[in-house]
Amino acid sequence: MTASPQQVIAMAKENKVKVVDIRFMDFPGIWQHFSVPLSELDESNFEDGYGFDGSSIRGWQPINASDMLVIPDPSTAKMDPFYADPTLVLIGNIVDPITREPYTRDPRNIAQKAEAFLKSTGIGDTAFIGPEAEFFIFDNVQFESTKNGAFYEVDSIEGTWNTGRNEGGRNLGYKPRHKEGYFPVPPTDKFQDLRSEMMLTLEKLGIDVECQHHEVATAGQSEIDMRFKPLVEMGDQLVWFKYVLKNVAYRNGHTVTFMPKPLFEDNGTGMHTHISIWKDNQPLFAGDKYAGVSQEALWGIGGILKHCKALCAITNPTTNSYKRLVPGFEAPVNLAYSSRNRSAAIRIPMYSSSPKAKRIEFRTPDPSCNGYLAFSAILMAVIDGIENKIEPGEPLDKDIYSLPPEELANVPSAPGSLDEALEALAQDNEFLLKGDVFTKDVIEKWIAYKTANEVNPVKLRPHPHEF
Ligand code: GLN
Ligand code: MG
Ligand code: MG
Ligand code: MG
Repeated sequence: MTASPQQVIAMAKENKVKVVDIRFMDFPGIWQHFSVPLSELDESNFEDGYGFDGSSIRGWQPINASDMLVIPDPSTAKMDPFYADPTLVLIGNIVDPITREPYTRDPRNIAQKAEAFLKSTGIGDTAFIGPEAEFFIFDNVQFESTKNGAFYEVDSIEGTWNTGRNEGGRNLGYKPRHKEGYFPVPPTDKFQDLRSEMMLTLEKLGIDVECQHHEVATAGQSEIDMRFKPLVEMGDQLVWFKYVLKNVAYRNGHTVTFMPKPLFEDNGTGMHTHISIWKDNQPLFAGDKYAGVSQEALWGIGGILKHCKALCAITNPTTNSYKRLVPGFEAPVNLAYSSRNRSAAIRIPMYSSSPKAKRIEFRTPDPSCNGYLAFSAILMAVIDGIENKIEPGEPLDKDIYSLPPEELANVPSAPGSLDEALEALAQDNEFLLKGDVFTKDVIEKWIAYKTANEVNPVKLRPHPHEF
């Protein structure tokens, strides 16, 4: 969707807009915003932008160079579905006020550069991305040690998971056991209406949704799938998606979390990411090789598998991410590919025989990632695979969880922890630096930020289970 500043201003008038909310993505992946009255939005603002303090945004500017500008992108205009006053939302790009250069730590800028880099290689003109973001719906999430050895309890009105504590007289009937939530009708599924409200709110915003459903874990784990879109557009949509889900939940007295593994011994929360590349309106990944894919798709798979450990530092960027990547919960552990096999890191979906539907499903990512960065990094690994003709090896069409150790010995596995992934990223980042998509500074800052703010605070704290 493209729109000019004039069209945005006309849209604002038509919708009787009083408030304009300017948003951008910070480095770790949280949407930031501030508002101006409609009188402060005219055509010049689409060039001159709005100033803000870049030193107060996590991972960005030092205090002595804190002035930054956000330039609203007119193609992103949407009406906010939640605010009391009619409010127009514009997503912006960050630029340096002195040099007027796009800010290299702005995740949206990185995504724009990834799209441009794909075009510059001649491999394709569009990368389509389809994330399947799962999430949990909770009420009171209480973290505490319990008598029977569990570290914490998630105490939902619906009785998400009870470890023996007094359930306060609430009706906890029809409660699915661990890994049995997929997908009985209500009353076992208690979140149909809430998920539909989320889905319909997304549609009202112009975000195409393919389906919503309960997921495999116990009460509350859910999934809503958006229809695939070009990379930057999907980056924008994924932030809207999280915003809509959290706000619909909050207004209904619930909480949504995209944390990858909130419950011990139950399925975690993934964000399987589908990717395909198109050139001149033709799908590049359809062909006559294994599972109906092209040679380029196989090389793309080779690229993802080769760089997977480093990729994880961006696609699975929290300490909690690695509690999900363990055997037995439909999450991938081994870095292999297969058609239909859900225990492999890469699956080639076989639902449709149409060449247009041919794509790679990378199952490792989780929704604690920053979508702009994750989608860009995945695309860069695919491009590296194609440019260097990286063969992915033989497919692994067996249930990897039950392979004997001698067969598994040759299959590399995902990193066991965020520090391992960051270490892999420190060693393997050339593929991300091509076309200046990710800069050395971004990689170094990412590793430093994650180590200081996430790895160390978790590593250095005694864990309740250790007591
Ligand atoms: N929740 C699983 C994961 O962690 C996926 C389950 C599914 O979508 N089949 O990836
Ligand atoms: Mg799915
Ligand atoms: Mg799923
Ligand atoms: Mg999937």
